[in-house]
Amino acid sequence: MKYSSDADAGFALGVDIGGTKAAYALIDTNGNLLNAIDKEPVPFDANGIANPEQLLAQIGQYVEQARRQPGVFHGIGLGLCANIDMKTGMVILSPNLHWRNVPFGRRIEEAYGVSVYVSMDVRLAALGEALWGAARGIDYFAWVTVGTGYGGAFFLDGRLYNGAHGFAGNFGHITWDEVNGYPCGCGRKGCIETFVSGPAIARAGEAAARDGRSQMLRELARTGEITCEMVFQAEAAGDQAARQIIADVIRLLAISVSGLVNTLDLQMIVFGGGVVHGSPDFVKRLDRRIRDFLMTEEARRELLVVEETFSNATLFGAAANVFLEKGLMST
Ligand SMILES: [Zn+2]
Repeated sequence: MKYSSDADAGFALGVDIGGTKAAYALIDTNGNLLNAIDKEPVPFDANGIANPEQLLAQIGQYVEQARRQPGVFHGIGLGLCANIDMKTGMVILSPNLHWRNVPFGRRIEEAYGVSVYVSMDVRLAALGEALWGAARGIDYFAWVTVGTGYGGAFFLDGRLYNGAHGFAGNFGHITWDEVNGYPCGCGRKGCIETFVSGPAIARAGEAAARDGRSQMLRELARTGEITCEMVFQAEAAGDQAARQIIADVIRLLAISVSGLVNTLDLQMIVFGGGVVHGSPDFVKRLDRRIRDFLMTEEARRELLVVEETFSNATLFGAAANVFLEKGLMST
């Protein structure tokens, strides 16, 4: 990653508030970091609800830092895993922070007198990749994240696609098996997310250890619960049950993502998220498998399947969103 010393065109403060950590960085209009990405714990109260006042104070420290930085400070771009009213910055529902109807964008503006643009984290990640990352110059792509959950965002006709209510991208909640499937965080049963996410991989590993298919996973979990990382570790060591679990996940992801390509005629899939980084060749294996389910010769020949460019694309997209909203750049 390049650090820029030329901040003449100005910069924004990118903020990515996740389920446990908040990341901060100053990013200029060329997509360069002005300093290292900082991470802070999200302040939760005893009931597991994120404390808006403490979070506001945390953001305030970085606003001060931004004001000390030479160059024009254009504002704050904020990404959250939540349904957001993008016009008002209202956080309608955030399951991670346990917020409902918190006007957080406005509260930051009132507290610090800066412009604040709030959006859903996956959508900002797609924007970051579109403007400065792997999908630069690509008009039709999906940003796909596989981690605690499974979902993403679409970039169609050269711009982010939001949908009628701003909910587009919930393809992890397409039902795969409502009869034998597992309960999903969305309140329904058998969504494909419950078969391919990190917790799903851990659960499958747990079952393999329990019913004696994997001695290795049983050994690894002697001190606690089986994690998704342990299943990848066992897979790398050649454990048969773990290899089957990961092969099943790759097959289901390939079916799911090829469905997006067959439906939307996409040019590229950009993959991010913890599961994707579980093994070094995960995306390469996905790339091969996806082609088994593509309908057209053109898609099989031309579709690009790549890993995310940034370790935190949401931060870059959050800054880009400020520049887009202020008319300093366009997609
Ligand atoms: Zn669901």
